[in-house]
Parts: sequence; structure tokens; C-alpha cells
Amino acid sequence: MSAMLEELAATAASLVRDGLVRGAGGNVSAREGDTMWISPSGFSFLDAGPDDYPGVSISSGEVIRGTRRPSSEVLMHLAVYRRRPEVNAVMHTHPPVTIALTAAGHDLRPMFADFHVYLGSNVPHIPYVTVTTPELAAAVEAVVGDPAVKGIVLRNHGVITVGTGIKEAYFRTLAVEEQAVIQHAALQVGTPTFLSAEECARLDQLGSEAYRRELLARMKPGRSSK
Ligand SMILES: [Zn+2]
Repeated sequence: MSAMLEELAATAASLVRDGLVRGAGGNVSAREGDTMWISPSGFSFLDAGPDDYPGVSISSGEVIRGTRRPSSEVLMHLAVYRRRPEVNAVMHTHPPVTIALTAAGHDLRPMFADFHVYLGSNVPHIPYVTVTTPELAAAVEAVVGDPAVKGIVLRNHGVITVGTGIKEAYFRTLAVEEQAVIQHAALQVGTPTFLSAEECARLDQLGSEAYRRELLARMKPGRSSK
């Protein structure tokens, strides 16, 4: 059993406990060579152990390991790995406040440092496309080729985050929903102010933030933080 696969299944279970996905919703994957390990279709992340994750060939799209059916969003995950050689993990979740806020016409914009540090300055918001279709995979593929893209909002649907490792993709998902919660709260009591482009550029230059990014990018599969 690969340590990466164990970490993937454990992190997926954390996403349920974090309230970022419910029931059998959402899907996660990780790259190991030409193999993409992906969550099985129809399972809650709380019920799917590492042995339930099928392996799909990234080059051919064929199931090459395991007996379970891959997630119905398999094409979306394959599109990311094919366009982004540095990406080793992809997470797709349905964070409720992010969905509500962006379906109401708001775009997520940085109001605190972590959102910019984890997601950067290019977070595409793509209009609703029917879930599980090749059209959704194509819509994601159209924006994910930019190496600056770390997360994508799917309006009326959810969020995709990518990472060079599993923990990085996970922390990015947490940062997206945290931003949405804060932005929503601010809208209740007044007019939100956002970090300016200059303030974000200053964050990019901070040595400590660069170190944090570096640490995350290098983080090896291991214990998931909970
Ligand atoms: Zn979905």
C-alpha cells in the first residue's frame, strides 16, 4: 500500500469532517508516476479506504488498478494532470458558503493574507456547467493550464484545488472556504474591504510567507493535520 494513497484517503475523510463535502459528494486524486489514484464513485470519503481507490492511467485514461469504478469526475482530474506536470494532487469539494456566495454573484477576493498566500492572484470563477460531463472537464482544462492557478471556483457547484502535494491541495481548499465565510460575514455588517494588488505583492515578497509556501510544496506524504 502506497503511503501516498493512505494519506489521500485520510485527507479525503478530513474534508468530510471539515464540512467541505457531504454524503458521496466530491472527489480527490493524487499522481504517482503515470497512475492517478482517484476516489471511487458512490462512496463517502468516510467509508472509502485506500484499497477502494482505483488507479487510472493518466496517459490512456484506462483503469489499471483496483476493482471500484472511478469518480464520475475522472475526466476533470485527468485534464488537470495532463496540463500541469508539477501538480500531484487534485481535490474537488462542495464547500457550502463558497457555493452560496459565488452563486449569488460574488467573486472570492482576498480579505486576509492566507487566501492570497495559498491561492495566489488568479482564482478563476467559471460559470455552471453540467456536473460529470466532458464539457465540465473542458471548461476546467481551459483555465487550469496557467501555472499560477491553484484553485478554481465552479459556480453553483463547488471548488477545485491543486497542489504539488496532498497537504497543499487540502490547505488550499480550507483557505477558499475560510475566505468565503469571512467575506460573507463582512457583507452582513458592512462593505468588505479587500487586500489591494500592492498589498498582495508585498505578501509575495515576505520571506516568512515564501518559506511557508516552500515548506508546503515539499511536504511529503505522512500524517494529515487534524
Ligand atoms: Zn462536484
